[in-house]
Amino acid sequence: MAEHESLEYGKADFVLLDNVSMEEFMGNLKLRFEKGRIYTYIGEVVVSVNPYRAMNIYGRDTVEQYKGRELYERPPHLFAIADAAYKAMKRRNKDTCIVISGESGAGKTEASKYIMQYIAAITNPNQRAEVERVKNMLLKSNCVLEAFGNAKTNRNDNSSRFGKYMDINFDFKGDPIGGHISNYLLEKSRVIFQQEGERSFHSFYQVNVWRHLSICFHLPPTSLLSLLQSSINDNADFKAVADAMKVIGFTADEIQTVYKILATILHLGNLTFGVDGDVTLIENTKLVSVIKDLLSTKEENVEKALLYRTVATGRDVIEKQHTTQEASYGRDALAKAMYERLFCWIVGRINDIIEVKNYDARVHGKNTVIGVLDIYGFEIFQNNSFEQFCINYCNEKLQQLFIQLVLKQEQEEYQREGIPWKHIDYFNNQIIVDLVEQQHKGIFSVLDEACMNVGKVTDEVFLQGLNGKLAKHAHYTSRKLSPTDKSLEFDRDFRIRHYAGDVVYSVVGFIDKNKDTLFQDFKRLLYNSSNPVLKRMWPEGKLSITEVTKRPLTAATLFKNSMISLVENLACKEPYYVRCIKPNDVKSPLLFEQERCRHQVEYLGLLENVRVRRAGFANRQTYPRFLQRYKMISEFTWPNHDMPSDKDAVKKLLKGCGFDHDVAYGKTKVFIRTPRTLFSLEEQRAEMV
Ligand code: ADP
Ligand code: MG
Repeated sequence: MAEHESLEYGKADFVLLDNVSMEEFMGNLKLRFEKGRIYTYIGEVVVSVNPYRAMNIYGRDTVEQYKGRELYERPPHLFAIADAAYKAMKRRNKDTCIVISGESGAGKTEASKYIMQYIAAITNPNQRAEVERVKNMLLKSNCVLEAFGNAKTNRNDNSSRFGKYMDINFDFKGDPIGGHISNYLLEKSRVIFQQEGERSFHSFYQVNVWRHLSICFHLPPTSLLSLLQSSINDNADFKAVADAMKVIGFTADEIQTVYKILATILHLGNLTFGVDGDVTLIENTKLVSVIKDLLSTKEENVEKALLYRTVATGRDVIEKQHTTQEASYGRDALAKAMYERLFCWIVGRINDIIEVKNYDARVHGKNTVIGVLDIYGFEIFQNNSFEQFCINYCNEKLQQLFIQLVLKQEQEEYQREGIPWKHIDYFNNQIIVDLVEQQHKGIFSVLDEACMNVGKVTDEVFLQGLNGKLAKHAHYTSRKLSPTDKSLEFDRDFRIRHYAGDVVYSVVGFIDKNKDTLFQDFKRLLYNSSNPVLKRMWPEGKLSITEVTKRPLTAATLFKNSMISLVENLACKEPYYVRCIKPNDVKSPLLFEQERCRHQVEYLGLLENVRVRRAGFANRQTYPRFLQRYKMISEFTWPNHDMPSDKDAVKKLLKGCGFDHDVAYGKTKVFIRTPRTLFSLEEQRAEMV
């Protein structure tokens, strides 16, 4: 008996559960995890539990087992999903995407790498040099992005601090010819502040970078040692990253500028301000001289940008001196903005290089795409702020897409097969998406409006705005609206009923994070650098204060726009899903923390997923495939049938077993309604083989 059919390892597909209850779901998930079966299906969705140990299931031999096979023929695996996406693209000319979600440390990024590895392994059988080059670039780009976008957190030693979507383009032969990366919401605040036990982005620690910095850029080693908790790996990683950047095609000047920016940010972190009478001044002026070298500008320009702000009042332009507090705010904003810009610039440079070139669709046929989305899942922390709000909004958008696509897909298949469409009942979360993004009434609009007000706008004023606009909304509440709810603080909290559960957000910092102000003086400073690479990163610094007519878009608006375009992009592709679960908080391969996991199953909406899947037809297979799998259970079909068609043979087989009432016969596929039937078939089959 094939291993994945044995009940000893639990059910390989959650639709086969006897009852869709949390209890049964968790029982199966736990059993499989304990037996080392980290993947389980819900139809075509892979549920993955982080094993926290090396698994011997990603090698060449495993690749061979999955190549070109159908989903049900092998034990559940990422490779099967990758292969399904690849086949859909190659056989049916479909653009596909693989959406990977789950909380931090659940295994999303590892999964995305295995998927890319699989695709790399099964393509380019003829070893065309150009394709090999593209594959190499795509894999190398990961290494660079991880160095600049990942950090050690308390949840994950290599945590991606940005969302990533990568398109891989294929030619008509099904070989990769290029790609494109989009990045979302880099956690730039990490540059200036890290929680106890966490680090800033890897790029800052790579030992050789540090050595390099201290020699070339006068970094005082002693003051940095405390900051730099480098590990042995950082050293090796530095070489790998430097090599990868070179291979990808970054020029020596560009690489040097990258290091200079890192050094500048480190120096900014040591810069302090004081007062002398009513004059604000920089306490460690030596650093300013170092920074001006790094930024290829003049000392007085650096000093002025740090201490003064140019303001336009009517026709006059005045230089307003910062208080020490304002100066510190400006310094931190500069450090964050420089890093964010650096990161986006790196992504842009990689895109320039990996983008498809010289592909003529008229000659070669359609160039198809597989997209891989590795993005933060729902976050529910002790204290939830603007970042969690954005991330959870993103998950609402993806859930909405999931609903639309899965239902649409089902509907289309039923139509194709000539089977009457049955309405599926499910919770449609569009109402929550609207609550956040709707024009004028949505939370983002209220926030932007509050930020637009002149004068001192506080987070509390924003909360009052929400309470005014959303008092009647079924998914929104606050202490003012539900006075008896002691879990909410006045003037601070609001609660959203997300599809995945309730989350309380604190408004503290919303206004500031949304405005995300970087004084124009800094932009000008960087634009006026004589380092052309740096200058190119800051084109908007060209404008003087009187020429700046438009407000920069707020963080919320930028994020909303990027989510809308992401969803548009995904919506025209055939989706495949990987749902990642983190079994415990201590990175243990043995521990399955029931409560932790249950919570994730809840907010990934997995039970709902099983229900939707079962509400229609739990399983569908083409007639020949069905026969191949089950022909041994009936004398009419074993070893061969003598019916006019496979369809007739399947009909006869199912009638004979008494399952006729539970199936529908489409043009090319048989549809099995309840998992019980499929399960019985599987049992009978297991008895025979
Ligand atoms: P996420 O991207 O969801 O935050 P990662 O993919 O970075 O999480 O995984 C966190 C850690 O868990 C990895 O560094 C690795 O140690 C472990 N891990 C994740 N997936 C696997 C896997 N399939 N096999 C072995 N270890 C894994
Ligand atoms: Mg990650």
